[in-house]
Amino acid sequence: MNGVAKTKTELTQQSTYTSLGWSFDEVWGMTDSADYPLLKWVIELNGQEEPDFIPGDANGDGKVNGTDIVVIANMLLGRKDKNGAADANQDGKVNGTDIVVVANIVLGRSSAPFRKAPVVTASGSATLSIEPFDITAGSEATMTIDLNNPDDVLTLVQFDLTLPEGLSIKTVGGDYDIDMAGRTSWRKHSLDANLNDGYYTFLLKSDSNTPIDGTSGGIITVTLVADASFDSGKIVIDNTVLTTPDEVEINPACYEYEITVPTALPTLKIDRTQPHFIYNLQGQRLSVLQKGINIIDGKKVMVK
Ligand code: CA
Ligand code: CA
Repeated sequence: MNGVAKTKTELTQQSTYTSLGWSFDEVWGMTDSADYPLLKWVIELNGQEEPDFIPGDANGDGKVNGTDIVVIANMLLGRKDKNGAADANQDGKVNGTDIVVVANIVLGRSSAPFRKAPVVTASGSATLSIEPFDITAGSEATMTIDLNNPDDVLTLVQFDLTLPEGLSIKTVGGDYDIDMAGRTSWRKHSLDANLNDGYYTFLLKSDSNTPIDGTSGGIITVTLVADASFDSGKIVIDNTVLTTPDEVEINPACYEYEITVPTALPTLKIDRTQPHFIYNLQGQRLSVLQKGINIIDGKKVMVK
């Protein structure tokens, strides 16, 4: 090695490597189970040595502060790789709960630099759903995502949104046309979304862990654009993380919404020699047909 021949026994001895200038303090490590040097972070991943990072210190600068919230958010949005330090509550996953944990550390609501979070439960009745809406081919529509949380006060909403072929989120100036609904305040909350591998990851959070108002109703609006050929498909919300200000995480089941472009109204031949009962959509009787939808003898008819 390094151009010098070594015996197999010599290759299992740390002194062989230190004599060649390898650093076993910072970069390399030897373990009982592997008879060759390993990079230290590999040993940490294998669980053979306690990790030397601070849970929550996602950027590894030795402090747990607001920058780490930004770092973890970027990881959740798929903008960078996750690491062990971002798993602030050390439950083996990096998700929205870790942002809540870091926010509570930053705000002094838990003892710095780390305290064990409460046991994570998949219980709770909170769910996300989509308010009924229509979209026509080649047009736009606003989709409202509701949060139903009768039993839990929540501060964070994270989920993946998968749209069917032919539907996409409208962009305005390079940004997704998404907004927080009335249950949140731009002063206290923030919303972002990012397109990952076939789905959009949404993250609505409050860096101060201010609770979301109320227990039901719209939380996020999304402007959707339908291709000219779009006719039907399934909108899916999954991988949902709902987090309470005190770090309890709720994981609702996958939610699916079937959307179908309304079919065109049928053509109706009218016998103009006979009397007809004509109404508009407001139920007012009309003496003559008007542009738009008319109800003739109980049937909807589009008049162009
Ligand atoms: Ca940090
Ligand atoms: Ca975690």
